[in-house]
Amino acid sequence: MTRPILARIEPAAFCHNYVLAQRLANGAFTWAVVKANAYGHGLMECADAIRDSAHGFALLEIGEAMNLRAAGFQQPILLLEGFFAEADLLLAAENNLSVTIHCEEQLRLLELADISRTVDVFVKLNTGMNRLGFLPALLPHILQRLKASGKVARTRLMTHFACADEAEIDSPLSLFNAAAAGTALPKSVANSATLLRFPWAAYDGVRPGILLYGASPIPASKTALQIGLRPVMTLISRVIATQELMPGQSVGYGGLFTADRPMRIGVVACGYADGYPRHAPTGTPILVSGQRSRVLGRVSMDMLACDLSGISADVGSSVTLWGEGLPADEVAMAAGTISYELFCALAPRVPRVVG
Ligand SMILES: *Cc1c(COP(=O)(O)O)cnc(C)c1O
Repeated sequence: MTRPILARIEPAAFCHNYVLAQRLANGAFTWAVVKANAYGHGLMECADAIRDSAHGFALLEIGEAMNLRAAGFQQPILLLEGFFAEADLLLAAENNLSVTIHCEEQLRLLELADISRTVDVFVKLNTGMNRLGFLPALLPHILQRLKASGKVARTRLMTHFACADEAEIDSPLSLFNAAAAGTALPKSVANSATLLRFPWAAYDGVRPGILLYGASPIPASKTALQIGLRPVMTLISRVIATQELMPGQSVGYGGLFTADRPMRIGVVACGYADGYPRHAPTGTPILVSGQRSRVLGRVSMDMLACDLSGISADVGSSVTLWGEGLPADEVAMAAGTISYELFCALAPRVPRVVG
């Protein structure tokens, strides 16, 4: 028997979540954000699930964009970080990829590039996150240079908010809108958190990512279930050993958990080398044979321990680390991280099984 851990990927759930995002966007163009191998879920499996309904895809790896084109996807594809060298820009133009332009260096590359076809451009404005983007005041100058280059087909404006999951967006949004006001260009500002909390800011295009994978961008105030999302990834494994602890005995590296009564524990084939967070403390939720339990002690490379008190389970019993029956958001919150990181950290050694 092979090691029992695997990640089950449910394309129908991805499609369900995408359609829900489209509904929240109320008709606005809905980019499916599929960067980082579709947040660890598998780009092709997810893209295929929305082959007919997808308006467009957004990612940042140009090779992945080419894979989508090679697989017959004709929709617009947006490169969220734009291009890193002239060769990328040439490929983007040849393959009809839309590019973000966020800095002077990219603007100059575009002006100098010998491209055979015009490209669609998203000018990214920095509205306070101070990661990527031009200062809004520079917009007229940038637009004038883009126009003068003769290399641009459509121009659109975008920004990304630093705190859309926990604060109001009025102040960065008004910076953006003030710059956009004179231009009549289409606008895109919304990631998942913005789309959920401020659906009126869907404007001419939304860019949901985490929603599509069935997790909440604001798990503390609105759960995935409350939003109506379905989990796309379920990480499952099995109990491969059990131990009986006497009071005073501990389990795992560092002996971090010590039993205060006789207790039965299960050892699960899943550790941080599979992508399970090592910093998940005792008490992190886990499902054993469909029953809710808790992780005990320190997560090791290939295994973790769980509490079998009051649970009917034995060697071979199924375990759900997150997904169907146990929202990834709950595990992430217990471990002091976010579902995004759990999904993206899924290790290559874990087989992904579709359906
Ligand atoms: C990743 C990303 C998104 C999607 O963010 P979520 O929080 O996953 O919805 C949207 N826009 C940009 C520019 C991004 O980089």
